[in-house]
Amino acid sequence: MKNIIDNEKVHRVAELIKESKYTVVLTGAGVSTGSGIADFRTPGKGIWEKVDPFKVTSITAFEENPQRFYHFYRPRIEILSRVSPNPAHKAIARLEEMGYIKCLITQNIDNLHQRAGSKKIIEVHGTLREAVCRKCGKMISSEVLLKKIETSEEKVPYCKCGGVFKPNVVLFGEMLPNLDPAIFESMRADLMLTIGSSLQVSPVNMLPQYCLDRGGKLIIINFMSTHLDYLAGVVIKEDVCNFLPAVVEALKTK
Ligand code: ZN
Repeated sequence: MKNIIDNEKVHRVAELIKESKYTVVLTGAGVSTGSGIADFRTPGKGIWEKVDPFKVTSITAFEENPQRFYHFYRPRIEILSRVSPNPAHKAIARLEEMGYIKCLITQNIDNLHQRAGSKKIIEVHGTLREAVCRKCGKMISSEVLLKKIETSEEKVPYCKCGGVFKPNVVLFGEMLPNLDPAIFESMRADLMLTIGSSLQVSPVNMLPQYCLDRGGKLIIINFMSTHLDYLAGVVIKEDVCNFLPAVVEALKTK
């Protein structure tokens, strides 16, 4: 991983943020890789190596076989207590605190933005912080969920009502409950920064288009190329953990 930061781009991004009236940030898995959370779309890494996540963690798979679902999903929940926000999460929270970021839309379900101090967050894919009973709607924390899995003979977290608890995340095949506010914020933005997202997951990858359609500007910070790179004012392929803190520093002196 290179440590040399393109200073010209840092200042260009800082300038665009400073000029904008309503900056919205959209984050993806790339923001959390620096915290040790593997992006399951990166081939050959982590717990998804041998399984097709689309088959195991769809809503249909959950309903058909919650035991198999939790066999694969439990490590994802367990890792959350062992990871911490990284400099990228902290820089994003700091930019909100400084008044530069008005809203953060995240595809991540790991709760790390909240833990870093971000306040106005739309979690378009839900969160692993909590789980909800499919039958009665009762909500429990992920800690309680893990305890229920552990103490259950089948390793399935059952509710008192007989229903099964499901992590409060959007599984493949489910609707996105927060899509409308995310679209609203994207339309309102005169500047959108997509950070650590390859913009491959629909419909979230359409959000920058709402900003662009209304004359907004787009900055893309991601290692891999995205389908919207050609429309972005600035494209940055640097480590977000180095680049974002540099932007914060640049804005302090502007
Ligand atoms: Zn229940």
